[in-house]
Amino acid sequence: MSLVVAVDIGGTQIRAAVYEPNNPSPLNLKRVRSFALQPGVFDRLVKAIESVWPAEPVAAIGFSSPGPLDPYKGIILATPNIPEWTNFPVRAMLSERFGVPVHIDNDANLAGLAEWKYGAARGHHDVLYLTISTGVGGGVIIDDRLLQGYHGLAAELGHMTIDPSGPLCGCGHHGHVESFCSGPSIARHVNEQLAAGAESTLHADPNLSGQQVADAALQGDALARAAFAQAGEYLGIGVANYLAILDPSIIVFGGGVSQVGDLLFKPFEASLKKHILHPRYLEGLVITRAALRDDAGLLGARALAELKTDSVKITS
Ligand SMILES: [Zn+2]
Repeated sequence: MSLVVAVDIGGTQIRAAVYEPNNPSPLNLKRVRSFALQPGVFDRLVKAIESVWPAEPVAAIGFSSPGPLDPYKGIILATPNIPEWTNFPVRAMLSERFGVPVHIDNDANLAGLAEWKYGAARGHHDVLYLTISTGVGGGVIIDDRLLQGYHGLAAELGHMTIDPSGPLCGCGHHGHVESFCSGPSIARHVNEQLAAGAESTLHADPNLSGQQVADAALQGDALARAAFAQAGEYLGIGVANYLAILDPSIIVFGGGVSQVGDLLFKPFEASLKKHILHPRYLEGLVITRAALRDDAGLLGARALAELKTDSVKITS
């Protein structure tokens, strides 16, 4: 197998890298700002890829982007992070420009794929990956295959309804896992409690961040601790639902909010035990943190390109 080029685009950064088979380190890696709210994102993307493009033959490009997107048609449907890309045929455009097959999927799915191939879930066949940061995203591996679904929209785990009368989610619906557990959701809950007269070392502030709430909680602030306890309680309900559907052998938590540790995970584990259909789901279940951090999307794009290239060779 020849080289693959992996690309990860987000609201702030474009990363492009060249990988050879069986070498964990990239032969070349470039990070540039994406300036995703300004015009010309695709041109910046092409330049970043050109800057790493090797002299040797490239088998495929693997591409990671925020979703929702259609991985089968290679179209970004709409992403708030990159407003210019609505129904944007990124696969066809990259394939035409670089003359190689392009495989795309969303960043959370590919981070899950990367953890399965190179990270915390190596050796597991059934993997639930959850990233909790400004949003809540998921990636699922079942029987060593990435779950994509009929439309390519599977594993939007942050947008499972757990309380229809719950807070408004970023997607416009109410009471999704994300609307209780993301960093901004935790901060919003604290602001609501402060407005209602709760006592705290924190002050009502529309720019309050999940990290500030975490810092206050670590200092012993009761309101901040209660906010994480509530997030953990709802996360446990969501994960009990995921387990009932997927029954994985490992859950991998990524994203900044997961870094708070026991503040979130003690109440999470208590809630999971309370809401799980049967204790059998939890026997031998590994619950752990992501191993790959920042480059998970890039490594997932690499894994996708290599897997697709291999499968073409096997079947043709
Ligand atoms: Zn939602």
